[in-house]
Amino acid sequence: MVAKNSTVAIALEGIGKRFGGVDAVHDVTLAIGDGEFFSLLGPSGCGKTTTLRMIAGFVSPDTGRILLHGEDTTSISPNRRPVNMVFQQYALFPHMTIYDNVAFGLKMKRVPRGEHAERVHEMLRVVALEGLERRHTRQLSGGQQQRVALARALVNRPAALLLDEPLGALDVKLRKQMQLELKRIQTELGTTFVYVTHDQEEALAMSDRIAVMNGGRVEQVGTPREIYEHPQTPFVADFIGSLNALELTVGELVGGFAVMRLGEGERVVVPVGPAARVGDAIRVAVRPERVRIDTPDALPPNGGSRLEGAIAEVVYLGMYTQFHVETRAGRIVCHRLADESLAAMIPGARVAVAWDPEHASLL
Ligand code: ATP
Repeated sequence: MVAKNSTVAIALEGIGKRFGGVDAVHDVTLAIGDGEFFSLLGPSGCGKTTTLRMIAGFVSPDTGRILLHGEDTTSISPNRRPVNMVFQQYALFPHMTIYDNVAFGLKMKRVPRGEHAERVHEMLRVVALEGLERRHTRQLSGGQQQRVALARALVNRPAALLLDEPLGALDVKLRKQMQLELKRIQTELGTTFVYVTHDQEEALAMSDRIAVMNGGRVEQVGTPREIYEHPQTPFVADFIGSLNALELTVGELVGGFAVMRLGEGERVVVPVGPAARVGDAIRVAVRPERVRIDTPDALPPNGGSRLEGAIAEVVYLGMYTQFHVETRAGRIVCHRLADESLAAMIPGARVAVAWDPEHASLL
């Protein structure tokens, strides 16, 4: 599945790779759209780098095919593929100027000399390094070095740029700045980006779509919003942000929703598919920031879920405060912005928590 109105730039068809006895990547099928910012996200060792290296041609798959713009490139050498790669260690030439580092890519591809100056300058403008052509790369900050590496990789106008944790070496503040920069550069050039990261916030901030990987397999593919709001597996739910997961048994089925009544004015409501049956054991997920908290009389029952309980813990986290509430369905964590009037919300206080039906999903 590709994003709407888009042609496929990179198709992975059932690719797999074993190292020794380990399935590093297993039966991965993905269609990455032309001009898409696509991220491979997952914990260390989940197979994202191996997948990227197979697209680049540095690792050959044991099974499956890789198509770039419809052409089977599975057995084509890396330097003949229309892709380029950017690494965490930028591997710039320290004795060369910025200009020469960027022009190096053009030399390798035997682009006529007459075109170099214009193309290098154009790319330095895109990465916001205009005017620094004559500087040596050892005189640059980490962020500037990363921009040179990007310019060098993009100057050949690859059909796709493959990025392996390119911001990993930068400090947090610079990293956030460079995330926005990368997104801007990608939008300006319209180049397909395939981005490997273990940082969920980074993937959510930049990507058009994300593939969440676990143990060599793709668990879910979707837009940041789909992945965050509607995780389809317990792994994805757990890996992307924090989440409440309630173990319940379907009590009633009413118009596409399962309803579990847990007490007077207390119930959990969740959208379910046609296969759901009364008596099924289910796991209901709801994000902490979707849970409202107030005194029981201030949160009367309405269409969604509502539970009563006592505050077990209050954790101040600056931007927001985290409340842990013990309810009949288990402990529910809720995040509220710090400027709300929450003075009465102290440990031991009786409260109600509530959330709308569309904010609950089934794991
Ligand atoms: P990280 O973020 O730590 O780089 P990753 O998700 O990119 O992790 P991969 O580097 O793709 O994961 O590795 C997937 C699995 O394959 C791991 O178990 C890893 O140890 C193993 N692996 C990767 N490359 C090789 C290799 N050349 N030889 C043997 N095993 C390998």
